[in-house]
Amino acid sequence: MENVVIIGSGCAGWTAALYAARANLNPLLLTGAQPGGLLTTTSTVENYPGFPDGVDGTELMMRMQKQAERFGTRTQYGVTVTRVDFSQPRRGASGFKLWLDDELLESKTVIITVGASHRHLGLKSEDLLERKGVTYCATCDGALPVFRNQPLVVVGGGDSACEEATYLTHFGSKVYLVHRRDALRASKIMAERTLKNPKIEPVWDSVVEEIHDVKQDKVAGVRLRNVKTGATQELACAGVFVAIGHVPSTALFKGQIEMDADGYIICRKGTSTSVPGVFAAGDCVDRTYRQAVTAAGSGCAAAIDAERYLAKLEN
Ligand code: NAP
Repeated sequence: MENVVIIGSGCAGWTAALYAARANLNPLLLTGAQPGGLLTTTSTVENYPGFPDGVDGTELMMRMQKQAERFGTRTQYGVTVTRVDFSQPRRGASGFKLWLDDELLESKTVIITVGASHRHLGLKSEDLLERKGVTYCATCDGALPVFRNQPLVVVGGGDSACEEATYLTHFGSKVYLVHRRDALRASKIMAERTLKNPKIEPVWDSVVEEIHDVKQDKVAGVRLRNVKTGATQELACAGVFVAIGHVPSTALFKGQIEMDADGYIICRKGTSTSVPGVFAAGDCVDRTYRQAVTAAGSGCAAAIDAERYLAKLEN
């Protein structure tokens, strides 16, 4: 029987592990399929306190892991939790159940820090051309030869879209930033930097209607529709980088804990979910702030909440 199982290895997960380990709870952290979470798909993180010159996203996550493991966190790599049973454990009875395929884990508490995954545009051509020119991560794929000195399209108007567009100017001949409104959602500093970049051309009030060319099995262009005028235009490009936000990766917990209509886990008192003993933190809970530092802070809170719950259980 584990004391604490942490599901997910982003900022919230590693911080929860650090605090749980320092409370001598001997936590087990399951990394999931993408160790380090979404921050490993970003380039330089400029707004994490303590790094005045910025820090590479992957490096930040590796440092967090090292710190959590230094105090005794046990890490299980690559495993995916396939099923959970959070029916209320009775005192002294079995714990919460988690299945890793056929392997069963039991734990007195669970901290869910599963984060979020990239939102898709929802086009058939997008699905068919994924990894054939359609991608959700400029830092992962931007330097591929197929994108070099070619016009590229970034979709979105938030910090991610601005960051991706700026990064892609190092590789593409030109970057179109396609946004469905006429103002960026991104932070002021990021928006200004993006719009000043001579290699970035914003295309306002526009959505991607179709990605070409499924027949050629590669991206050759996009058809855009202006949402105000209804006019369409064709843009030739070799890559489409979709950066339109995220959806919480919580499907596994449906029916087990309370969630809102979009799949964000609902926490009422601190990080407590609707099931006492199950806590949640980070991007799978937070639709407002979604920063590395706020995720880390909530991971810390979840570990403290779990520690207090366990102390009560033992008294
Ligand atoms: P976001 O802030 O939610 O922005 C998503 C963007 O995509 C919005 O501009 C939105 O348009 C657009 N969008 C959403 N659904 C769409 C659809 N179906 N079709 C077309 N456009 C669509 O997401 P994000 O940029 O990934 O940022 C997430 C969080 O991470 C934010 O809190 C951000 O500050 C943070 N972040 C920070 C940094 C940094 O500071 N270095 C870098 C990346 C991300 P509307 O504007 O019209 O809603």
